[in-house]
Amino acid sequence: MNDKISEQLIFLDNNATTRVAPEVIEAMLPFMSELYANPSSGHSFGRRLGPFVEHSREQVAGLIGAQSTDEIVFTSGGTESDNWAINATLQLQPEKRHIVTTRVEHEAVRHVCERYEKSGYEVSWIDVNRDCELNLDQLEAAVRPDTALVSVMMANNETGVLFPIEEVGRIVKEKSNAIFHVDGVQAVGKVPIDLKKSEVDLFALSGHKLHAPKGIGVLYIRSGLTLAPMIIGAMHEKGRRAGTTPVPSIVGLGTACELAQQPGIHDAIQHMRDRFEDAVLGSIGCAQLNGTKYRSKRLPNTSYISFANIEGESILAHLDEKGIYVSTGSACNSGTHTASPTLRAMNVPYAVAMGSIRFSFGRYNQESDVDYTLSHLTGIIDNLVAMSPFNS
Ligand code: PLP
Repeated sequence: MNDKISEQLIFLDNNATTRVAPEVIEAMLPFMSELYANPSSGHSFGRRLGPFVEHSREQVAGLIGAQSTDEIVFTSGGTESDNWAINATLQLQPEKRHIVTTRVEHEAVRHVCERYEKSGYEVSWIDVNRDCELNLDQLEAAVRPDTALVSVMMANNETGVLFPIEEVGRIVKEKSNAIFHVDGVQAVGKVPIDLKKSEVDLFALSGHKLHAPKGIGVLYIRSGLTLAPMIIGAMHEKGRRAGTTPVPSIVGLGTACELAQQPGIHDAIQHMRDRFEDAVLGSIGCAQLNGTKYRSKRLPNTSYISFANIEGESILAHLDEKGIYVSTGSACNSGTHTASPTLRAMNVPYAVAMGSIRFSFGRYNQESDVDYTLSHLTGIIDNLVAMSPFNS
């Protein structure tokens, strides 16, 4: 509670979460004040709310290229959507006990698959290379007729590397009748998505990654596929996901989906990211990029950089003192340091992985944030390099 937030607030952690857009707050406010009824109520006050929820469903469907609004089910966020997708897919095909997924999925997928593995399912964990590119040959060899589920993320949350989900979908459908789930949480709102042109059956997204509030998400369920509900109760969301409809959050998510399509916004974010990345890699000797150098294969907002032989947590703390907020790729748990599963899967040597910092830009960053961060980062790294026992 007493953590000091610096006067200066340069938020370069937009893959962790985003600020709720003022337009989103404005759109939500009436639904927390005068329009507070429950849309499931029988009275006319409640019935007034339904069209707003359905409009949001259209806005979400538009952003991800769903064929129909019936494919959009509101949930509490990315974790619930991923969990539901995996659990219900396996429940639907009890005779199939094989899962294909990657080594670099978010915990919301990875930990669920690990649990199934422990309970007796066979899981094929697909590797990535040093650039965090998915091994498609390995994936093709792994998918087989008794595969129940293939789960592959669209964009990695650490490196921002985009996986070719259209190609993966083609492989999945050629080789099996498996259900294809995509964790789209980091991609939505950052890159164009057209699900109707893909073989994706289930697709998870989360509002707080695209300037909607925390606690709202979606599971896209391709028409024709019926999943058992995971949250059981009344008949909300046509019996697919129980719980009183959170109208303000749903309206906020719809508005955020519109904002994400504003012309020019992604170019501006990419320009900041590119300028920052070029400057860091060009001027700091120990800096190395994690993830492919081909920018069209990465999210336009993410730069995941390792500073060899220094600790990411020290870099984070020094940036924090200057009011610059970022994430690390390693964790320090009770004295032991571990690199993230993504960096380990990429075979990044430990001395490099431990100094990894993810810089993720967003719509409220300005070019001056890049200058301010660069002006401090070089000195911070120089000092830490000078102090590092590995560099003596
Ligand atoms: N999947 C990915 C790739 C993520 O980055 C995250 C959150 O960081 C999640 C799932 C979980 O989403 P939520 O925070 O909405 O539960």
